[in-house]
Amino acid sequence: MPRRGELVRFLGEELRANLDPLGRLVTIEAGKILSEGRGEVQEMIDICTYATGLARTIGGVTVSSERPHHRMMEQWHPLGVTGIISAFNFPVAVWSWNAALALVCGNSVVWKPSEKTPLTALATQALFLRAAHNFAGRYPDDLPPEILPNLSTLLLGGHTAGQALVDSPLVPLVSATGSTRMGRLVGPRLAARFARPLLELGGNNAGIVCPSANLDLTLRAVAFSAMGTAGQRCTTLRRLLVHASIYDQLLPKLRRVYTTVTVGDPRNPETLVGPLIDAGAFASMQQALTEARTEGANITGGERIHPSGSPEAFYVRPALVELPEQTGLVRQETFAPILYVLRYEHLAEAVRLHNDVPQGLSSSIFTQDLAEAELFLSATGSDCGIANVNLGPSGAEIGGAFGGEKETGGGRESGSDAWKSYMRRSTNTINYGATLPLAQGVTFDVN
Ligand code: NAD
Repeated sequence: MPRRGELVRFLGEELRANLDPLGRLVTIEAGKILSEGRGEVQEMIDICTYATGLARTIGGVTVSSERPHHRMMEQWHPLGVTGIISAFNFPVAVWSWNAALALVCGNSVVWKPSEKTPLTALATQALFLRAAHNFAGRYPDDLPPEILPNLSTLLLGGHTAGQALVDSPLVPLVSATGSTRMGRLVGPRLAARFARPLLELGGNNAGIVCPSANLDLTLRAVAFSAMGTAGQRCTTLRRLLVHASIYDQLLPKLRRVYTTVTVGDPRNPETLVGPLIDAGAFASMQQALTEARTEGANITGGERIHPSGSPEAFYVRPALVELPEQTGLVRQETFAPILYVLRYEHLAEAVRLHNDVPQGLSSSIFTQDLAEAELFLSATGSDCGIANVNLGPSGAEIGGAFGGEKETGGGRESGSDAWKSYMRRSTNTINYGATLPLAQGVTFDVN
């Protein structure tokens, strides 16, 4: 096993051994329900497994040369220090998507977690250090004591700490996950010093429900992707475009789910919707609902609720907001459990509405019609980085490249060839002949 992969394998083993406690800490700190807290750590384990295998397969292509006795090839070299800025809603998984790949690519990492979730970051860093110590004990020549503390560094603080990372000439790549507002500040600062950005920003993800959709499946998919994680995923379903012919069949079922879903203490195994992260999230949700009312919305849910024992926490019933048209409000991301529902007549109109938002992260279509599904996945269909058929837009697996277009920032993390962002490419030409033929037939003979 290449040693870089072996180190990440050790990290994966530490995470596996601590799946339950770290998952529980995610629940306590970020408010995710138990199975989602655990799922977040499972995702960390999965990316470690993936990166361990990747460590064996990273490589470049060999290219045919036009010059006799020449060979061309690509090599991929480590880029250096990888800066990671992460958001509160995936307090530890985002670090692992970046760190596991960065490490097998031969980089070290500096992590600025969300100021809202420092505990899970400290716990994760402790697990990494334990893994690195175990690795150093096993392979002392490969990880000398002076290198070990520099492999992964934790930088706790708010946006000024993030800015220090963004502005550091020692950091050639910054992977920044968070709001589009943050990306607008970070992107130009990185560009100013020609550092590489990997931006994972806000989403405004939609689902189109076609006449042939399996409505039971659709209902379950909508429930999980719109209400799960209390609407606080970048891939949360925020807009549902329903064909007029099935609107009156689907909406009563959805309203029932919205009025009955269990909201409460995320540590309770019965709970499906935990709290919002803070008062600010609650205020922006209420502001959006007030604006929706003035635009003629029919709203189910959205009110604050007070489960016993948590008077200061911000629990809300998820809101189902039926609107006559896609207004400016619908086109912005409100990071809370609000699902806007619109009616459409023709698929072309639904696709136009689907793409008519500034963000481009994830998307779904629900249909049994092959032509509709293929159209949605084609170049003239969804303009998002992720497009799904008969499942919701959230809950991606680590094997695919993750990220989105437009104001989502264009970055790709996790699977597929996302590793290339963490390396620099070197194109090499080797002349194994005794003459010097020049490319394009250029002659330059000196005596
Ligand atoms: P946020 O933008 O408030 O903060 C994210 C991180 O950026 C934090 O660590 C914060 O300290 C840091 N930050 C803020 N301003 C900065 C600056 N000027 N310079 C450097 N760092 C700065 O986001 P949040 O509220 O924690 O998370 C929610 C947002 O993140 C939503 O918009 C959501 O869609 C998005 N998100 C996107 C993805 C994705 O993969 N596309 C994943 C998770 C969350």
